[in-house]
Amino acid sequence: MRIITATHVKYYHVCHRKLWLFDRDLWMEHTSEAVQGGELLHQTAYPQRAERYREISLGGSKIDFYDPHRRVVHEIKSSQKLEESHVAQLKYYLWLLEEAGVEGPTAILEYPKQRQTLHVSLTADDRTAIQQWLTGIRQLQAEEAPCPPTINKPFCRQCSYYDFCYVGE
Ligand code: SF4
Repeated sequence: MRIITATHVKYYHVCHRKLWLFDRDLWMEHTSEAVQGGELLHQTAYPQRAERYREISLGGSKIDFYDPHRRVVHEIKSSQKLEESHVAQLKYYLWLLEEAGVEGPTAILEYPKQRQTLHVSLTADDRTAIQQWLTGIRQLQAEEAPCPPTINKPFCRQCSYYDFCYVGE
């Protein structure tokens, strides 16, 4: 069975085609200016943070900022446009932490450019929904699963697969 990471969960909520391509190692994020900008934001938004928080790896996913004393995950994003997928990513982190035996982890989603924060926790409904996400992701990972169609959303222009998806249009 192929691994499922928080990136799979995030892409599942953005675009199934993006997830399908990513899962098959057609990985183009390193060429994306948006992703490079996001990495820079991670490095510069809270320079003191590296001293206070831990980077941890769980089930193939990497949490950049985890406060082990308060059991809080911090996630920094540059734009609220895809907030639903950001929340899903964080809920998956919390689920992974619970699976690893951490009791009652919570998360804070931060948009420093907009000066917005959002507190995220895991409910019983979320745990059920995560099982459904995992089933949906496994279906897209199946060898016979066809590449999903393009979705023609405004945010496609910021996607690293844009040229791949719309070349010739
Ligand atoms: S460009 Fe649009 S359709 Fe293509 S993978 Fe990205 S989000 Fe999906």
